[in-house]
Amino acid sequence: MSSFNVIMALSGASDIDVVEAEPLRRHTTYRLGGPAALYLTCHSYHALRRALEVLDREGMEWVILGKGSNLLVADAGYAGAVITLGREFSRFVTDPDTCTISAGAGALLSRVVNEAYSRGLTGLEFAVGVPGTLGGAVSMNAGTREAWIGSVVEEIRVFSPAEGRLKRYGYEDVSWGYRTTSIPRNEIILEAKLRLAPGDKGEINALMEKSLARRRRTQPLGKPSCGSVFRNPDGMHVGKMIEECGLKGFSIGGAQVSPVHANFIVNTGGATAEDVARVIQHVYATVREAYGVELQPEVKFLGF
Ligand SMILES: Cc1cc2nc3c(=O)[nH]c(=O)nc-3n(C[C@H](O)[C@H](O)[C@H](O)COP(=O)(O)OP(=O)(O)OC[C@H]3O[C@@H](n4cnc5c(N)ncnc54)[C@H](O)[C@@H]3O)c2cc1C
Repeated sequence: MSSFNVIMALSGASDIDVVEAEPLRRHTTYRLGGPAALYLTCHSYHALRRALEVLDREGMEWVILGKGSNLLVADAGYAGAVITLGREFSRFVTDPDTCTISAGAGALLSRVVNEAYSRGLTGLEFAVGVPGTLGGAVSMNAGTREAWIGSVVEEIRVFSPAEGRLKRYGYEDVSWGYRTTSIPRNEIILEAKLRLAPGDKGEINALMEKSLARRRRTQPLGKPSCGSVFRNPDGMHVGKMIEECGLKGFSIGGAQVSPVHANFIVNTGGATAEDVARVIQHVYATVREAYGVELQPEVKFLGF
């Protein structure tokens, strides 16, 4: 594996920005984590293919990143290439006749949610306040207890580096689970078409406001975090379980179980990834001891 060879092979390539040793704390909502050996922003489909070809040839591992809002990056960073989707993947087109929005995977989910609202399209209100990109949301099947993004997906387009081709999945081709999908991990989501329904703008706005108010009331939005750390076990509320173990406020270094929402582990300032990982392990072990339940993380780990 050689960063140097990759940089040389991509130098002068149009539509690709290449940065060496880029600190990933700049690209995660946790505001922590070490550097990626390479940080590539691909602004077009062709640029993405080119970058993947070179990485494959040089034997350098890679990962695709949205806005890093569900990610814990190790303090030592990541020895491979982090790829993000740039300009061409941020566009979206709304078709009022079919009530659909087709958007690039790099588009901010908040922009797509606002587009739906401003066009009087209902179905995405649940996603207001979820940070990140549309690609990240589809990959995570992001949502709330009531609704999740997969339920409004009509089709998605992905690139499969292993097969060297574009693929299309309809809603029914994908198994949509709780914060998980059956889309293979090595496929890159490029675009999604969302099917919404005509709605009343006043009602859409009221639903969004209600949801945002609930978030402001129940989540520590002022502190860097990755949102919920653990998935809710079947029929249980993980936040309540952690709280009942007396762990609200528990901290190691700069990482703390939020006193506001026990399933959020926040960076109170200067936390290391190691601090966060140790708090995660402590919560996991304490809940297992108290309930006999092995919690599953919702957060993704990079470089561990
Ligand atoms: C304050 C806060 C509140 C949150 N609230 C919620 C919530 O209510 N509901 C919820 O579900 N989540 C929530 N989250 C978690 C997070 O915002 C979501 O999981 C979000 O959808 C992740 O999007 P992202 O672009 O940041 O993805 P990233 O964190 O960058 O990546 C997440 C995963 O998706 C993969 N991925 C990203 N883009 C692509 C792509 N184009 N193709 C293939 N794979 C890709 C990555 O490889 C990674 O495995 C919250 C987070 C925070 C910080």
